[in-house]
Amino acid sequence: MPPDPFADDPNDPASFLEPEEEFPLLSDEELLDLKSDLANVKDFRRLLEPRGIRGISMLCNDCDEVHYYDWDIIESNIAMLINHQIVPVHEPGAKPNPDEYVTWDYCLGYADAMDYAFNGARPRFLWDR
Ligand SMILES: [Zn+2]
Repeated sequence: MPPDPFADDPNDPASFLEPEEEFPLLSDEELLDLKSDLANVKDFRRLLEPRGIRGISMLCNDCDEVHYYDWDIIESNIAMLINHQIVPVHEPGAKPNPDEYVTWDYCLGYADAMDYAFNGARPRFLWDR
């Protein structure tokens, strides 16, 4: 047998062929949460995209920096989680303009205010539908 050309190479290409990390099965509750997240995101997008908002900003726990996610990315990431697929590492957009992104909490507040403006006070919140 010829010597393994990658024997001492930490970037041995075979190491990329190892099986994906075990993906934990979602509980029914987590699945419901994700489905309501997805419904929320579609609502937020419907309300905010016409106002020039391109997506949602989130503080990343890993690198302590704010990341910016376009609506399409958020929707497809949540849909992939629901379908029990691995979510690919996102490629941050090239130089996102922070003014074009808002936080999840901002979206919740905005959607609630819009709901109130159009429907008046209701005993349940928009996102409990
Ligand atoms: Zn990060």
